[in-house]
Amino acid sequence: MLSAARTSFVRRGFTTVHGFTGAVGNTPLIYLKHLSEKTGAHIFGKAEFQNPGGSVKDRAALGVVRDAEDRALLKPGGTVVEGTAGNTGIGLAHVCRARGYKCVIFMPDTQSQEKIDLLRMLGAEVHPVPAVAYENPANYNHQARDYAKDHPNTIWTNQFDNIANTHAHYLSTGPEIWEQTKGRVDAFICSTGTGGTLAGVGKALKQKSQGKTQVWLADPPGSVLASYINSGGTLKDRTGSSITEGIGQGRITDNLAQFVQEIDGAFTVADEKSIRMVYELLETEGLYLGASSALNVVASVELALRLGKGSHVVTVLCDGAYRYQSRLFSKKWLQSKGLEDAIPKHLKKYTVL
Ligand code: PMP
Repeated sequence: MLSAARTSFVRRGFTTVHGFTGAVGNTPLIYLKHLSEKTGAHIFGKAEFQNPGGSVKDRAALGVVRDAEDRALLKPGGTVVEGTAGNTGIGLAHVCRARGYKCVIFMPDTQSQEKIDLLRMLGAEVHPVPAVAYENPANYNHQARDYAKDHPNTIWTNQFDNIANTHAHYLSTGPEIWEQTKGRVDAFICSTGTGGTLAGVGKALKQKSQGKTQVWLADPPGSVLASYINSGGTLKDRTGSSITEGIGQGRITDNLAQFVQEIDGAFTVADEKSIRMVYELLETEGLYLGASSALNVVASVELALRLGKGSHVVTVLCDGAYRYQSRLFSKKWLQSKGLEDAIPKHLKKYTVL
C-alpha cells in the first residue's frame, strides 16, 4: 500500500497573496531522486521556474523596482528600462504591468524568439540589438543606460551592478533554502549572469551556517568566471560561446564583486553535458527545464561526487524549457550547434521539432 506521503499533495505556504508581486518567491525545493541515487548524495533543485513570471529573475526584477520606488527614483507613470538576456526583462514586464510603469527592454539579438515574443505580449517595448562585447558602446546594457538618460521619468535598473538584485536573493532565496533544508546544506552551486543569485544566496547561507556551507560557481564555456576563481583572480579575455542563455560573464559585475572572495571553487560545464542533462531531467525526473538549469544540475552532480556520499547539495532550476523549446528540441538547431551526438539514442525521442 502507498504511504499517505506518497498519495497526498503536500500543502506548502497555502495562503492568499497580493497580485503578481505577492506570488514571487516561496518556491519548492525539489529532491532530484535519480541523480541523488546515482551519486549517493542528496541533490536538491530550487524550483525557480515556478515563479509567476517563470524564472529566478522575478525576484531580482521585483527587488530592483521596489528599491527604486523606496528611493523615490521611480515615480508613478514612470518608465523602467533594462538590458537583459530576457528573463529579467520578463520579470520586469510583469512587475511594470502590475504597478503601472512602462517597460523598455534592450537585449542581444542572439536570444530565443520565445523570450522576445513573450516580452512583447507582456506589453514591453523590445529592442533586439547586435550582440557586441561589454566594452563596445553599442552593447545592450549601455543602450539601456543611454535610453534612460534621454527620456524623462525613466530609470535604468542596471541589474548587473545594482546590489538590490543580490539583496533580493539574500532576503528571500537564501533563507528559503536554509529553512527548506533545515540547515543541512553542505554546498550551494549555481551559474551566474549578473551574479545576484549566487552572491545573495551564498551570503545568506554562509552567514546562517557560520561559514560551513560551501558556495561554488558553475560556468558555461566562453565565460571567464571559473578560471578567474580557480586562478585566484586572473581575468582572461572572453573567448568561445555557449548554447546556454542568460549565464556566463566577461567581467566581475558589482553583484559578484562583493562575494567573489568567498566562493570556494568553480566548474566549467561543456554544452554537450548541459544539453544532455536537459533531456535526462525530462526522462528521469519529468522536469522540463532550460539549459542553465541543466548546467547547474550537471555541476551539482560533480560537486556531490567530490563532497562524497551523504552530502547535501543545492542548486537552482532557473526556468522552464518553454522559453527555448524551438532550439533545444529542434534537430536542425542541434545539428547547427554540432550537438546532435550529445543526445544519447534512448533520449532522441524528445527531439520532436
Ligand atoms: N539562468 C537564466 C536562464 C537566466 O536568465 C539568468 C539571468 N540572466 C541566470 C540563470 C543567472 O542569474 P543571475 O543573474 O542571478 O546570476
